[in-house]
Amino acid sequence: MQQIEHLGIAVKDLQASIPLFEQLLNTPCYKTEEVASEGVNTAFFKIGESKIELLEGITENSPIKKFIDKKGEGIHHIAFEVENIEAEMKRLSALGFEILNATPKSGADNKLVCFLHPKSTNGVLVELCQEKR
Ligand code: ZN
Repeated sequence: MQQIEHLGIAVKDLQASIPLFEQLLNTPCYKTEEVASEGVNTAFFKIGESKIELLEGITENSPIKKFIDKKGEGIHHIAFEVENIEAEMKRLSALGFEILNATPKSGADNKLVCFLHPKSTNGVLVELCQEKR
């Protein structure tokens, strides 16, 4: 793993949260993007080498809506940047970590992503992401 690529934060109302985080971080949101496959709208902020990703659920079955119903708004996942996502998925799966998707999928911000089940990572939803190239 190379670095923390971003922290994902679940929010109820993206349009209200963008100006809030712009004030908090003192930096403009540089991108918003809908990821229809995940049922989310996202907004990104750069903080040094890392990013903050705000996520708002836009469909009833969106994992973000379910998360907020259960736990409320807050930190949803930690994303680590990896050089080779398939190699990393193999490595972690051989160690017993539960990978939620069998093959990498297309995520926001030009990434290939996969998630590890929080029950195998002390309750933390972990995302691996690799820049698409
Ligand atoms: Zn993410």
